[in-house]
Amino acid sequence: MPDLDPEEFRRLGHRYIDWVADHRAGLESRPVRDDVEPGSVRRRFPTEAAEEPQGLDALLERVDEVVVPADTRWQHPGFHAFFPANASLTSLLGEIVAGGLGPQGMLWSTSPACTEVEQALTDQLARALGLGEAFTHPGGGGGSIQDSASSAALVALLAALHRTSGGRWRETGVTGDERVYVTAETHSSLAKAVRVAGLGERGLRVVGFAPGTRTMDPHALAAMLEADASQGLVPAMVCATVGTTGTGAVDPVREIATTAAPYGAWVHVDAAWAGVAALCPEFRYLVDGVELVDSFCTDAHKWLLTAFDASLLWVRDAAALPSALSLTPAYLRDSASDSGAVVDYRDWQVPLGRRFRAMKIWAVLHGQGLQGLRAHLRGHVALADELARRIRAHPMLQLAAEPSLSLLCLRVRTGGAQLEDQAADEAADDRATRSLLAEVNASGRVFLSHTQIDGRFVIRVAFGATTTTRRHLDELWTIITDPVPPTTLR
Ligand SMILES: *Cc1c(COP(=O)(O)O)cnc(C)c1O
Repeated sequence: MPDLDPEEFRRLGHRYIDWVADHRAGLESRPVRDDVEPGSVRRRFPTEAAEEPQGLDALLERVDEVVVPADTRWQHPGFHAFFPANASLTSLLGEIVAGGLGPQGMLWSTSPACTEVEQALTDQLARALGLGEAFTHPGGGGGSIQDSASSAALVALLAALHRTSGGRWRETGVTGDERVYVTAETHSSLAKAVRVAGLGERGLRVVGFAPGTRTMDPHALAAMLEADASQGLVPAMVCATVGTTGTGAVDPVREIATTAAPYGAWVHVDAAWAGVAALCPEFRYLVDGVELVDSFCTDAHKWLLTAFDASLLWVRDAAALPSALSLTPAYLRDSASDSGAVVDYRDWQVPLGRRFRAMKIWAVLHGQGLQGLRAHLRGHVALADELARRIRAHPMLQLAAEPSLSLLCLRVRTGGAQLEDQAADEAADDRATRSLLAEVNASGRVFLSHTQIDGRFVIRVAFGATTTTRRHLDELWTIITDPVPPTTLR
């Protein structure tokens, strides 16, 4: 038999689940990151694949030898770098069911359950986030689960190009006159989408910040749209970011949408990391103005307890993506699709095939309830607020950006030895901040990343791992304020 029989799967499955449970239970006794030499993992593999089967008990031993010592532990409670990637155990149970069922959800008819669970859950989440009925399937729009916010931005752009071309894009492709509006804080996936869509770098227009902010200036946007339109260029899409990757800045969605409206540009909201926080009434401001936009994206796979990949994309017009992307070869034609009564999610994405991603989101919603999700989000926001309070009170540290939800940026303040020379002071602070980051990460107990604000080096702290608690904040604070020598853990 070319596969395991179900009884052997049951036996091995128990072992594999035990392995995952032990790994998670033991995470804190390992460093957040291993010191890995490039190529050292690959070298452990023979150049040729084995001819003989080797048994799956033995594979776990190989994983222990080869994989476990060469990892960056995103699920470690001391992981505060980049953004979280919550591979919750709750969601892994849903993954097992999804894989066990093993459907291909490309059309409604290729797995009605795969499609309709996704519709039902994205409708529930649209309501829970306060997006409004217009973004639900019964409301004429609808949600889908994409592999990533990057893909979501790409398909939103394709729908935008189609719409702003008056429906000609499908036939003629781009003209080269289309323009997409972002800021310097917009995620690089938008620039990539512009490139993939064939607009070239000239297709990307970077709008300035409002004075004293890192958010899009609606006046600058208005001027740019007007100048471009008057030259015959086509404003195709404006991307507003809710929670930028660098500092968590929130663009003024309402003003941006109002400004873009007269030009017919598609307005996409990229809320990949922060959007999920709108589940909490106190963070509903994050979706202010969303009733004016065309699409809204937030990742369940960052901070919403769902293992990668699960990016939620809602559109106001359910026909927008299929109009741009639908292609029906004879072998995929069927009566359910022809009836127009169902959604075929292959028309909402670039690939044809699709996984039953909704299953893991269902496990999370079922297992946590909205209450559990809110408590998870609020816990991390409280940690960032507390860390910010301590930084403000510390003589040698400074907030480089105020907390945005569970994210903040800090730098070292060396004290301005050369008060009359601001550039020299800033360079000294940057050097001290770099070396603090290196020392803190060398502890192995925590992992922080960095970014630049106005050309200056700052440390980013993004709380959000599923098991990070107050105790881990205290440990982080101890390490930041009294760097310890590199851990002996490894
Ligand atoms: C993380 C992030 C992305 C990219 O997310 P993927 O789902 O990994 O593609 C896009 N935009 C913002 C604002 C992000 O924080």
